Amino acid sequence: MKFPDIHCNYCGKWLGEFSLEIFTTGYRNYLTNGKSRHFCNDDCHEKYKAQFEIIYKGEKMYKVGDEMYVPYIGCHYYFKTAENCYQRMQQKHLCYFP
Ligand SMILES: [Zn+2]
Repeated sequence: MKFPDIHCNYCGKWLGEFSLEIFTTGYRNYLTNGKSRHFCNDDCHEKYKAQFEIIYKGEKMYKVGDEMYVPYIGCHYYFKTAENCYQRMQQKHLCYFP
């Protein structure tokens, strides 16, 4: 039986066949919608994130799709406008931004 190939989500490098080992030890991070993506290393992950980075009123946030703004990559909710996202980010006492 052949397992699916795992590629870096940024540069496309082949990381190996899907296995429990890659799943537990491989570099990965969660994106929006709870989807797990694999990357070679932190460098590729940072470059991947930078593609979505925007600055709105001095706050760094990410535009991950049409009408999808998140305060950080891996966030499990999103906002339809940058303004809404910004307003939420001002409520620092409500949640922690890594
Ligand atoms: Zn890579």
